Amino acid sequence: MHDAIENSFLASLEMTRFKGFLQDHHYISNQYIFVAQLINLILKWYCSKTKKQHLVSVYFERLENYCRKFYALNIKIFNWNSVNSVQKYNQKPDLKIWLKNPLSILAENAGGGILLEGARIIELIPSGKQPSSEYDSVFDASWHVILPGLINLHHHFYQTLTRVYPQALNKELFPWLKTLYPLWAGITPEALRMATRLALAELLLSGCTTASDQHYVFPAGLENAIDLQVEEAQNLGIRMVLCRGSMDRSEKDGGLPPDSVVQTCDEILADSERLIQQYHNPEEGAMTQITLAPCSPFSVSETVMRESAMLAKKHHVLLHTHLAETEDENSFCLKTIGCRPLDYLEQVGWLNNKTWLAHGIHFTDEEIQKLAAAKTGISHCPSSNMVLSSGVCRVMDLEKAGVPVGLGVDGSASNDSSNLMQEVRQAFLLQRLQHGSKVTHLDALRWASEGGANVLRRPELGRIAEGMQADLALFKLDELRFSGNGDPLAALVICGAHQADRVMVAGKWIVEDGQILGLDLEQLQAEHHREAKRLQEK
Ligand SMILES: [Zn+2]
Repeated sequence: MHDAIENSFLASLEMTRFKGFLQDHHYISNQYIFVAQLINLILKWYCSKTKKQHLVSVYFERLENYCRKFYALNIKIFNWNSVNSVQKYNQKPDLKIWLKNPLSILAENAGGGILLEGARIIELIPSGKQPSSEYDSVFDASWHVILPGLINLHHHFYQTLTRVYPQALNKELFPWLKTLYPLWAGITPEALRMATRLALAELLLSGCTTASDQHYVFPAGLENAIDLQVEEAQNLGIRMVLCRGSMDRSEKDGGLPPDSVVQTCDEILADSERLIQQYHNPEEGAMTQITLAPCSPFSVSETVMRESAMLAKKHHVLLHTHLAETEDENSFCLKTIGCRPLDYLEQVGWLNNKTWLAHGIHFTDEEIQKLAAAKTGISHCPSSNMVLSSGVCRVMDLEKAGVPVGLGVDGSASNDSSNLMQEVRQAFLLQRLQHGSKVTHLDALRWASEGGANVLRRPELGRIAEGMQADLALFKLDELRFSGNGDPLAALVICGAHQADRVMVAGKWIVEDGQILGLDLEQLQAEHHREAKRLQEK
């Protein structure tokens, strides 16, 4: 009996500890107190019945110790920097989990679900079958549509601080940039931290498991921008490709940005190399990677373009920049450099399979062939292109020619949303408008998953298959917009899913029941909004 009580005592505490204990601390605190009181009562009853008074002091002492432990744990949960350690505590890494009988899944012959072990998918289970090996737990996925975790190829997190800024509304790219540069010059480390956390939260909740961000604004005081972004991504547990952006060509040198937001070539290259050495992980399954990402031909000198390419080659990292976004850019390049943007890219040593380009709209047929031969990737950013009236990326032509294509939400100030699942729908609609019914929802889902993985040269990501990383986005179809659907997978795209119910990165749940574990969204929103207002009112 002694053991039985002790075991049930421990089991009840374990249960309350693991059952979504990161989601709402008030609720959980009350739950602990309730459990403690309940156990207290049971112990009192047992001791009075059995006359074993000596047990009272032993159990009460244990009870007190456990309550103290949980109190300490609750404090830890709300210390943001310890989220990862809490998640590790919550999820044992090498357990085998069967995600059983999904409502639908974007994978071949996996109607019975998938078996995961640690960070990997180890088995696809056909309908009506069981996993071929033993497993530790089962997750009933019969209410969920399972997608490979989505991959975002292009963003500027800091721009969440200047969403729908009134003076920049209804402008095309160049005047839009010129309005916003002076504001961006005032970004502080705390503001960038909030912007990064907020954008990553938006992305995660939309089913994104691999995010990339191109940060290219480095005013005085923000020299460690990428370092703090690495910290934020690691705390959240999302896979991250940090693009070390740069600008060194200000107005005085014929560029677009003001002096206040640019750096010198030496500063850019020294910091780029430091970041690669400090954070870049070239291994399969890496959670943090660095790429070099001079902003665009109209804000970066030829020297920075060339030197960045050489540095990237030396350290085997990728290159990223904006290209062929607008007709203004073509005119600018022709006038100042004497050639079209893609020719310029080739001249500075960038036209290869280690480069991907944001937008890639204004290419000729010959240029598309050139891109295909080099296997240079493209990030299609449909919302941004529509908002800024930049044009329509020729996604179908690019893919047909053999160019790797993925999706990007682009900076918040042009898209004003970091929702990658909504971007899948935008891509579907825009390309459908251009190419008719040969564009399907499966194409759009492929661009956001496998396509993105190809662009980032990450063959272990973007697909649900044996041996792949367990990066997954699970959506429920329990909203009005899905009611009556006949095809759950198509419904996600065509009815417009916008929030994942669960998201897993490298085998760990990061989102459960539509909540990011360990992150207080209300508090984040308040802090981010305060930083945005401070910046806009400077
Ligand atoms: Zn951009």
